[in-house]
Amino acid sequence: MKIIMLGAPGAGKGTQAEKIAEKYGLPHISTGDIFRKNIKEGTELGREAKGYMDKGALVPDELTVRMLLDRVSKNDCKEGYILDGFPRTIPQAEALDAELTKLGEKIDYAVDVEVPDENIVKRMSGRRACPKCQATYHLEFIPPKQEGVCDECGTGLVIRDDDKPETVQKRLSVYHEQTQPLIDFYGKKNVLHTVDGTQDVEDVFKAIKDILK
Ligand code: ADP
Ligand code: ADP
Ligand code: ZN
Repeated sequence: MKIIMLGAPGAGKGTQAEKIAEKYGLPHISTGDIFRKNIKEGTELGREAKGYMDKGALVPDELTVRMLLDRVSKNDCKEGYILDGFPRTIPQAEALDAELTKLGEKIDYAVDVEVPDENIVKRMSGRRACPKCQATYHLEFIPPKQEGVCDECGTGLVIRDDDKPETVQKRLSVYHEQTQPLIDFYGKKNVLHTVDGTQDVEDVFKAIKDILK
């Protein structure tokens, strides 16, 4: 089963992808997480990506596609995967499509998590992330058991560099310009499903499970 998570930055794609991954035993592949890991490790890829990410811009397609296709060619992806944050542009979607066609495969579900822009700003300003295991929390909506500390691994939580309000606005406009057209793209392929992302985490997850059945 191959699933793509669509939705604005902060819509809850990562939160849901993690739950789907656990329930269905599929790898959760977040291009944002892969970039952040490379930045932390100081790799060439990380150095290249950081400049774009800090500005709220997208990393160039060429670089992103190469990295993603390499990741999905790994053994743990044989039974499928959940893509979170990829594709983000039409050229990325087309590149993935071309690769899958070559392999005689296809995307089974594109799940669009819908959240209006007004709610997004609040979601992103309260987001706290674990720099070690990538778990995500929210100060108000999904607080960790102990303030400022990851439930999963005990590491201190951080605010992502690109979650500053100015950058969030920029990322939202990039989303509307470059990523939203993917909703049509997957609609035409008859794999698009929409869920109301303003509900509680568990209710969003329930709606997604109904779709994947
Ligand atoms: P969010 O969870 O808020 O949607 P991500 O962690 O998915 O953010 O992405 C953070 C940043 O990483 C993006 O703003 C962008 O700069 C870069 N990035 C992630 N995925 C992609 C992609 N598919 N194409 C281009 N840039 C990407
Ligand atoms: P994305 O991967 O789409 O950028 P995240 O999963 O990181 O989004 O969620 C963005 C923020 O909103 C995080 O702080 C997360 O804890 C919180 N969040 C996720 N889903 C919900 C929800 N259904 N209700 C309230 N807050 C949520
Ligand atoms: Zn952690």
